Amino acid sequence: MTSVETVSNHTILTAGEGPAAEVINPRGAAPICLVCEHASAFIPAALDNLGVAPDQRHSHAAWDIGGRDLAVALSKSLDAPLVASRVSRLVYDCNRPPSAPDAIPAKSEVVEVPGNADLSTTDRAARVAEIYEPFRALLTATLDAFQTPPVLVTIHSFTPIWFGQPRKVALGLLHDSDDTLAKAMLATAPDGLDTRLNAPYSVTDGVTHTLREHAIPRGLPNVMIEVRNDLISDPAGVARFDRILGQMLTSALQTQVAS
Ligand SMILES: [Zn+2]
Repeated sequence: MTSVETVSNHTILTAGEGPAAEVINPRGAAPICLVCEHASAFIPAALDNLGVAPDQRHSHAAWDIGGRDLAVALSKSLDAPLVASRVSRLVYDCNRPPSAPDAIPAKSEVVEVPGNADLSTTDRAARVAEIYEPFRALLTATLDAFQTPPVLVTIHSFTPIWFGQPRKVALGLLHDSDDTLAKAMLATAPDGLDTRLNAPYSVTDGVTHTLREHAIPRGLPNVMIEVRNDLISDPAGVARFDRILGQMLTSALQTQVAS
């Protein structure tokens, strides 16, 4: 693991809590950069759990359940570097720009986050400086280190029940202005797996920030992958989606090269 320097004058993350972001398998040989912005439910001690109820601190509001396990498995099976956040999205959502109201949400779906209500400008700036900027810098440095331009693949999970409504979709392939890789992967989806383009979210929900910030300006093929979290909540599910997504991505990239 490599890490970014912790910022001086930090008020949120202490030295003992480690950096805001990490790279797993930094020397991975595949021309693929994996990203997991919602990999952790960790809330630094200084924030006193943000006032979030104990039963919600490891709910999907805090992180993408199973997302890190799946991303780490793909990093190993594909031999690709993975940039992952080490802090809960309730502290700062690294898939949102600082200007987004939900970058530091005072409410996430049905979960109240009292520690994010009425934040001062100074407190917001500290969240950006200590969480978002180190994540952004680490992803930038990781992309810069590739010998040949990689594809950028972000790994997410979503809750099966959203505002009380069940979701049937199992796998979502989301894109921003470049739909090439998402559509190429959709064409390789296995029979019987409910796979959809731009579900359960799409660009209009503001969820493609990482693609827009890091892939589009560099001209990198890119896709945001969303897996329903009940399908990757145990090791068998993670192994299944590691296999499925590895095959889909490999096939899609071969198709792109061939076309
Ligand atoms: Zn996510």
